[in-house]
Amino acid sequence: MTLQQKVQGRLIGVVGMARSGMAAARLAMQHGARLFVSDAAPMEKVSDQAAELTAASIPYECGGHTERLLECDYLVLSPGVPLDVPILQSAREKGIPLFSELEFASWFCEGQIVAVTGSNGKTTTTTLIGEILKADGHDVNVCGNIGRPFSEVVQYMAKESIAVVEVSTFQLETIESFRPKVAVILNLTPDHLDRHGSFDIYRKLKHRITENQVAGDYLILNRDDPETMAEVPQSAAGRLFFSLSHTEGVASYVEDDALHVLLGHESTGIIDCRDILMPGRHNLQNAAAATLAASLFDVHASIISRVLESFPGVEHRLESLGRVAGVKFYNDSKATNVSSVCVALEAVEEPVYLICGGRDKGSSYDPIAEAGRNKIKGLIVIGEAREKIVAALGKAFEVQLAATLEEAVEAAFEAARPGDAVLLSPGCASFDMFENFEERGHVFKAAVQALTRNSNTNETVSN
Ligand code: ADP
Repeated sequence: MTLQQKVQGRLIGVVGMARSGMAAARLAMQHGARLFVSDAAPMEKVSDQAAELTAASIPYECGGHTERLLECDYLVLSPGVPLDVPILQSAREKGIPLFSELEFASWFCEGQIVAVTGSNGKTTTTTLIGEILKADGHDVNVCGNIGRPFSEVVQYMAKESIAVVEVSTFQLETIESFRPKVAVILNLTPDHLDRHGSFDIYRKLKHRITENQVAGDYLILNRDDPETMAEVPQSAAGRLFFSLSHTEGVASYVEDDALHVLLGHESTGIIDCRDILMPGRHNLQNAAAATLAASLFDVHASIISRVLESFPGVEHRLESLGRVAGVKFYNDSKATNVSSVCVALEAVEEPVYLICGGRDKGSSYDPIAEAGRNKIKGLIVIGEAREKIVAALGKAFEVQLAATLEEAVEAAFEAARPGDAVLLSPGCASFDMFENFEERGHVFKAAVQALTRNSNTNETVSN
């Protein structure tokens, strides 16, 4: 079926009025579709979108989904909409196709797609690949989960452009023809089990990123990740591995402290790993994956190394805030799962007061006991998950409870000595206390700034 046949004159139901849903609606409208937009949120939450839809004469409903969606030819789902919503189950029973916004946008994408998924490191790696390709002079659109919806980007993307798309598992659940030229699966750790039910289902969903790839496309995988290696996805794409600990059978590897790429028979030294600006081994993995992806677009080693030397990482991801009275502060608000907390504990060199907690996501906190041994001096726990965290870690560490994040920062600062670090790495979702992890990170930074003002030091805290 041609794109025109799939879209023009068809009645498309868009489910979810957040940014991606609205971008999909605009895209569909531009291409001559008829539309019906639906959101479960009440009018107060979606009034701006409702006004836009009214102005464009697009019918919509909010405050719940009705049977009107079942009159549509197919439904396009915003990433936040879970598939177990009853109306979507009814749609499935009636044989109405469901497509993620990622799938829908990809129909319109004439350029090449680099798609990055995994449990952790997606935003960092997606951004980094974008930076390297830009430095090489490509016209690059970094999009997807990362902020700008893919549906928005494809509206003006040229044939020669590259879309570097951060892809969540949610978006992969309902793809049909989505086909990246280069796909990356960074790692697989238990996360989002609250939504996907089992790790096996989660892994299979991640594997879907490669299912439509053809010969000449590439799938980049982490040789060091046991869950990735336990079941390697099969597809027509060329499989390339990155590794920090193996040098055989891998295309991006570390040898003599330098990051190398081996494509065909040609091995190229890219950079001395100590010159990579982002901290921690996990970021070295991200750098290895990004370097490999960029090398498939023939980016010269000197350009890759220049970017790796100067790329500081992304805000809220183990972001260094400098010192207050000799105590270092790190904002890792994006660490919304337990494995990210363990990664941060490994990357931070100083003894740590860890601020964690928030909305529990169903995983065990036990791994923090192991990762934090000889590293954590104390825990300050916030949010809904407090009791579960105390039960899991109260024996291993000294734990204090705090009612707010500001209170937690003060308690951590009071306990810390010069040379220690205070690390916000919550291991939980933020929604019990904040709008999102960005707000949580900003509140943390403001609290640290307040300490700076009160502590009368000359040291600065970055914004
Ligand atoms: P994502 O977009 O997948 O959530 P981010 O790049 O935003 O990933 O990083 C989220 C968190 O995961 C950060 O707190 C960081 O410390 C941790 N992290 C980043 N890269 C990796 C990696 N390769 N392996 C494990 N953890 C990582």
